[in-house]
Amino acid sequence: MIRRIATLLLLLIVGWLGWVAILNLPGRGGSEVSGKVQKNVAPRVSPSPSPRAAAGKLIIPVTGVTSAELVESFADPRGDGTRTHGAIDIMAPRGTAVLAASAGTVEKLFDSKLGGLTIYVRRLDGGWIDYYAHLYSYSPGLAEGQKVAQGQPIGTVGSTGDASVEGPHLHYEIKVMAPGEGWWQGRGVDPYPLLGGK
Ligand SMILES: [Zn+2]
Repeated sequence: MIRRIATLLLLLIVGWLGWVAILNLPGRGGSEVSGKVQKNVAPRVSPSPSPRAAAGKLIIPVTGVTSAELVESFADPRGDGTRTHGAIDIMAPRGTAVLAASAGTVEKLFDSKLGGLTIYVRRLDGGWIDYYAHLYSYSPGLAEGQKVAQGQPIGTVGSTGDASVEGPHLHYEIKVMAPGEGWWQGRGVDPYPLLGGK
């Protein structure tokens, strides 16, 4: 009789331990695994900015000019057909304010034979440069290394460099910069559609 009771108790204990093992261990193991998986996945979710988003929030860089007044000339031949324009020319009277199309840092102020008085502004993400040429003047105090806000006056429209005195305009380029490239490098992107031209 006592043996039977002892055997029964033993079976109950073994059975109970078995249930504990079945119910708890896989459960705990599962939650640990899913916790680890979530921790590993989380950093991959962080969004990376697309080039299109970086280029899509520009303003027309000449005071008073609307998108309807813009003229497409990105692919026009220049230099006896040896190169293409790679820019947009925005016509305006001499002395009209030139505004920063995008926020950034003035990387280079350069007086060149073709461009005349020019400004190279590297955007805050580092991957783009806005280039302004044929300026009549720089805004007072403008300096290399200076941060500029979008819409901030940085100079005035002119015809310095290889530009007609009768047709003062802003020559505006957008350049995509590969990592490590300097202000004189980069690959031109058509500003016309990015400024709302159609
Ligand atoms: Zn031009």
